[in-house]
Order: sequence, then structure tokens, then C-alpha cells
Amino acid sequence: MEITKKNFVEAFQKRLEQKYALDVNDATNNELYDALSSVIKSAYTSMWRKTWKDYLQTDQKQVYYFSIEFLPGRLLKSNLLNMGWLDIVNDGLNELGLNLDDIVQAESDMALGNGGLGRLASCFMDSLASEGFPGNGNGIRYKYGLFKQCFVNGYQVELPNEWLKTGVGNTWEIRRDSKAVMVKMGGHVHLEQKGDYLEPVYDDATIIRAVPYDVGMVGYENQHVNTLRLWDAEIPENEEIKYPTIEARRNIEDLTSVLYPDDSNEDGKRLRLQQEYFFVSAGVQSIMRHYLKYKKSLNVISDYIAIHINDTHPAMCIAEFMRILLDECHLSWEDAWRQTVKVMSYTNHTILSEALEKWDVQMLNSVQPRILQIIAEIDNRYVASLAGKADGDFIERTRIIAGHQVHMAHLAIIGSHSTNGVAKLHTELLKTDVLKDFYTLYPERFNNKTNGIAERRWLQLANPALTKVIDETIGTKWHTDVKLLHELMEYTNDKSVIQKIGAAKHENKKILADLIKVKTGIEVSPEAIFDVQIKRLHAYKRQLLNLLRIVKIYLDLKENPDLSIVPRVFIFGAKAAPSYHYAKSIIKCINEVANLINNDVDIQNKLKVVFLENYGVTLAEKIIPAADVSEQISTASKEASGTSNMKLMLDGAITVATLDGANIEIKDRVGNENIFIFGLTKDEVYKYYENHSYHSSDYYNNNPVIHRVLDAFVDGTIPNIQAEGHEIFDSLTYLNDDYFVLCDFEDYLRAQSEIDEIYRDQSRWNKMSLINTANGGFFSSDDTIRSYASDIWQIKSITKAKRVDNNGKYPL
Ligand SMILES: *Cc1c(COP(=O)(O)O)cnc(C)c1O
Repeated sequence: MEITKKNFVEAFQKRLEQKYALDVNDATNNELYDALSSVIKSAYTSMWRKTWKDYLQTDQKQVYYFSIEFLPGRLLKSNLLNMGWLDIVNDGLNELGLNLDDIVQAESDMALGNGGLGRLASCFMDSLASEGFPGNGNGIRYKYGLFKQCFVNGYQVELPNEWLKTGVGNTWEIRRDSKAVMVKMGGHVHLEQKGDYLEPVYDDATIIRAVPYDVGMVGYENQHVNTLRLWDAEIPENEEIKYPTIEARRNIEDLTSVLYPDDSNEDGKRLRLQQEYFFVSAGVQSIMRHYLKYKKSLNVISDYIAIHINDTHPAMCIAEFMRILLDECHLSWEDAWRQTVKVMSYTNHTILSEALEKWDVQMLNSVQPRILQIIAEIDNRYVASLAGKADGDFIERTRIIAGHQVHMAHLAIIGSHSTNGVAKLHTELLKTDVLKDFYTLYPERFNNKTNGIAERRWLQLANPALTKVIDETIGTKWHTDVKLLHELMEYTNDKSVIQKIGAAKHENKKILADLIKVKTGIEVSPEAIFDVQIKRLHAYKRQLLNLLRIVKIYLDLKENPDLSIVPRVFIFGAKAAPSYHYAKSIIKCINEVANLINNDVDIQNKLKVVFLENYGVTLAEKIIPAADVSEQISTASKEASGTSNMKLMLDGAITVATLDGANIEIKDRVGNENIFIFGLTKDEVYKYYENHSYHSSDYYNNNPVIHRVLDAFVDGTIPNIQAEGHEIFDSLTYLNDDYFVLCDFEDYLRAQSEIDEIYRDQSRWNKMSLINTANGGFFSSDDTIRSYASDIWQIKSITKAKRVDNNGKYPL
């Protein structure tokens, strides 16, 4: 049936009655949400089935994107937008006296990830479907999502986030018992000769039932729905007798309980490794089961299947795929290996050495001994292949198992045909520094794929005010091809457009100001500059640099209350890893500085500091449209790409940035005049490392401004940070400031004072904002995914135009 307001209203009322025997007036918000999501889901399921059938009928090569994190956020509105239903449903609900934005509050924010990595995976899911690609996600259905963050006395407190039990749970998923697979872990294994192959015999292995929950990934106005498959761990029915107590059962069921278990102890580490093998094995087994059903030769499997390893967490895909080809399908090692390397591809997400995954050989042996055997054989053959070609040091540096550790990145590179970085600078650093040995060995395997974002969520959905201005200016073609936003460049001297850009931002700032008032009680003025830093709290991201600057301005104003500055609201959103002590100390200090400044009458509302609790996708959607300034101030070389930098520019914020990650590519697009660049470059940072010539205490001793600002952390100027103030002071002085905060401080102040100057000229500022939005379309994940599809996966879009009758609107 065609979707019209009338049809929708009837379907919605009927569903509410069927599910709850209620009418609109008597239903709670949860019930309204449940009925609404049910109408939406049952409308896209027929397209979901058809999409799958199309893949089969046309024998499409498919990609499976393995990621230990996905961060989709709420799906209700993005599904409505992608189905072409948003306006109709909005109107229909209004007619019933309801409001979509109220109903949406009943949906829990699906937070099965920590930050950028998981959000990228979710933007890619949106783009794969929207571009019509045969692409599936594969991950873990954590019972607890990323912790809920609260502040108590300025300290971060972590509360469990039992997202499946709040409200009505996850209304989008479909449990598929019929697709369950068994995953073997633990125990011992030995090989027995059986005819002409070796058969692995397992003793005492634990069998876990992996049950998939499928979530539809709805493509934008193309009637194309892909699958995100998330796995849950259960006890097999015929094995229940082995687990007579609740404790014994819990060991199995806890496997998929928490995202990133505390890895400060052995048990936590082992649990994480078990999670990795669990979702890898379940995913690869289900891919193989499907492939074998159609009785095609295994020697052409790489023509039909691509498996992508998002960061090293799923790197065991390589060994698991080999295991099935060898142990279950009895391929020769050579044939199996040839196919494996062709099937697999890998994305590296970081050069921070502490984040490069290594596992103890003993631990891997206890988690899956057969996988260790296979990895050891891959390693032996790798070493043998280099005999006489490379020196011993090279081999030791690059082999997979060295010093009783399994190097997952080495496994991922050796066992795949493609390794990509996530921004130009990052890929360059992989080639010339972190992975340079591998680059000399396999230059053809390395390539760059700069990250991107799903503009649909971050502009069309999150920012209706700006969307409206753009639509009125250049029409709506950019909704299906975001690069067309560039047509806005023709309006940089159009006073009325520039003025409307400013008005839209102002409207968004008012909305955020109201939210800040409700959430924190703090009053902020939309006339002030909204200066935003939102991202995980990490030393390299340098929230501390931002904080030092805030303290500096505060001290200046205390000394000279008549100092003329444009009022600013500093907005932070950031979670720290629960065991990351230093990051938590920074949170405490920001909160105490906020208290001090927000309650100081001398400041006359010239400064406000707002640290919003529980940063996540849902909060990001509120903050980003209201941002004037985007803080992207990581130490050069440390941020692989960043994606909040892209979201913020797209929504018209002006970036203050170091030449790091994708900031460089943003600068290249918008031009030097429309971004504020400061600080050390990558080469300067590397030179300091090389010459050991950075001495941060010189800055403290010789620069009176820095001296005064740092003293504020230890002399009582900022109250209630006895321990934390000293910790931070020491890290920046005696411990030599690992991230060059003091070195970049002055130049950062310079960039910020330029902002102050330019913001006073609103038409100039709004023109810069327009130019940023106009170039935001170059960072679309639709583009990024098209490059992955053609360069790495060799998959084809099953034509965007195929079923797009009725303007692509999904039928009811
Ligand atoms: C985009 C996004 C991130 C990534 O932010 P970076 O600044 O690129 O690290 C993290 N968390 C959420 C909720 C996001 O939406």
C-alpha cells in the first residue's frame, strides 16, 4: 500500500489496538513508540526479504564487515528518513495530537561501541544500504551497552546500561534460532591422520550456542535493506546438564554481557579474547554454511565473499576461515591460503603503540588451541617464505608470534590482500613508520580510505533548520548526492543566504541552550560563541589544552573584568575509560573549573563552561548543529582520522585544528581562510622525538602566562582538585608533557583570538560557516564506501535505481 498520511494514521491506530488494546489517548509513550516502530519494521521487512533474494538470484559477491563495535544510536527517525516517511509520519502524528520527538525518547540509544570506531561502522552500514551494496555487518549483541556516565562531585561515575531492559527493549531486532551455530572454545586439541588429511580431535572443549539477532539496515529511498547480524551466547540445549548451577550458566552467558570488559586483570583480558573468537567464529561459520549450501567450488569463494576486519579485534577471521577450509572442507593449505588472502581485508585505526593488540600465546592457547596452531603455521610459513630474502631482524620484527606474543596486526596484514589507513596522513605514517617493514614487503597491499560520515543522520536528521535553508537555496538533489552541497559556493556573497545560515545556527543554539538549562541548570546565551569539544577523553586528544586556555581567559578576566571579549560557552562531552585514571582526573578538573567560573559574578556571563553528562550519539545530534567552533586539537600524528571534525564542519562549525588526521583534508577543501590551524606539525613532533629535545619545564619556567595558569592547578585557585591538580601539574612539567600541550599553548591562544576577532563580524563568520557546509559533502561515508567497494572488496551496487518506484518511498 502506498504511504499517505491517511494510510499511516490508520495503520498506526490499528497496530496500537492489536498490540495493546488501546487507543492513542490511553497509551503511554513506550506503547506509542512500540507500535510506531512495529509499523515501520513491518513495512521494510518485505524489502529486506527482497534484497536478500536479489543477492541470491543475481549471485552477487557480498561483503561481511566484522566489527567488535557498532554505535548506531537511535534508529526510529533514521529509518523514517531513509524510507521517505519522515514528513508524513510527523504530520500524521500531529493530527493525532502526538509529537514524534516526544515518542522518540522511548527508544534506547543503541551504544554497542565506545566512540569513533563503532560510529564509523554504523555510518558504513547506512552507506552500504543507501548505495545498494550487498553488505552485511557482523558483531556482538552486548547485553550491557557502553556505561552510562554521571558526575558526582565532579567525578565520573559509571552506571550499567542495560539497554535491552529499558523501555520496550530493542524493537528492531529479529532473533533467528534457525541460524544458530556452535562455537568451540577451550580444552585441548591434537591432530590424527585420517586418510590423506589431518583431523583435529578436541578434548574438553566448551560448546557455545551462538544465536544471531538481525537488525535491518534501511537504505535511503532505494528500497534496499541489508542486515546487521549481532551474536548472543547461549548454552546448547543438549548440554544444559553440564551447567547445573546459576554460576556455571553465567560463565557462558557473560560472554556477550559487556562491551570492553575491564582488562586490568587476566580474567578480563581472557573474556575479551573469548568475545573476539566468539563473534569471529559464529560469523565465519554462518558465511560458510550459506556458501556451501549452493555447492560452488571453494576455489572460487573469493569471487563471492569478502570479509573485512575492522581494526585488529576480528583478525582471527583469517585463522577461522583457514580452519574451516582445512579441517572441515579438506582443502590443501596452499589452496586454502590463496582464497583466504583474497577474501580478507583489514583497516588499521591507530598508530598508538598501546592500542596495537597483542595476545599472550598461553592465553590464546587456552581460549582456542586449534586457532593458535593455525596461526603458528601461518607464521612458520611466513618466516620460511622470507628465508634468504630478508635479514633476521626484519623477520623477527614482522613475524606474527614473537616473544610469546601473538601480534594481531601482523596476522591481519600477512593474511589479507589489503591494509588501509583512515586518512591521508595516517596512511602515510603507516607506510613510512609504524608498518614500514610490511610496506616494503607488500607495497601493493597498502591504500588509503579517508573516513566519512552519513550526512543523512548528521545534517538532514540532526539539523532540520540548516537543511531547510539549503533546500531553499539549491534544491534537494544533494539529499541523494551530498557532494552537490558544493553548489552552495555560488552563494558566498548572497547576503540573504548568509543571513539565513546565521539564523538557522541561532535557532539551533537556542534549542541547545534550553537543553543545557534542563540538564545542568546552567543558563547560557545563544549570543555567545558555542565552542565545542566532543569526543572520548584521552590525553592525546588534549582536552587539557582547551582547559588551560579556559583558565587563562578566566585569570585575565579576574585581573581585568572590563576586558573586551566575545562571550563564550565552552561545551564538553566525553567519557573516559573506567580504568583510565589520568583521563578521569581531567574530567574532575574541567568540572571544578566549570563550577568556579559559572558561579563567579566578576565574570558577568562572559564565560560559561558546560560539561554535559553521558556523551553519545543522541547527545551529539543535539550539540553538533549548535556548534560555532569545533575543537580538533590532538597532538599532530596521534589522531588517525577523526569523524566528529567532519560532522561539525558539515553543520557549519568552524574548525580550530592541528594538522592531524582528516583535519588536513578539511583544510585542503575549505582553504586556509576558513579554518584555524595552529600547533606543531607531524614532522616537528617527530623531530622532538628523534632529538629528545622537548623540555616542557622550560615552558613553565620561562613563560609567565603558562606559569600562572599551571600554578592555578596547585595553589588553590581552582578549588577541590588537591590530588588531580597536582597530577596534572606534574604530568605537564616533571613528566615532560607527553603530548606537547605546553609547546602548542601560545599558538593555540593566537588561533583563538583570531576567532574572537572574526566572530564580531557576523556576516564574515556566517560566510565561513556556509563554506564549511558546502565542502562537508566531500566527507560522505557514501563516497568512502564506494571506494572500499571498488578498490578492496570488488562488490557491485545492485543499482540504486532498481526498485525506486514511488520516488523510492517504502510502501506501507
Ligand atoms: C563521531 C563520534 C565519535 C568520534 O569522535 P572523534 O572526535 O572523531 O573522536 C565519538 N562518539 C560519538 C558518539 C560520535 O558520534
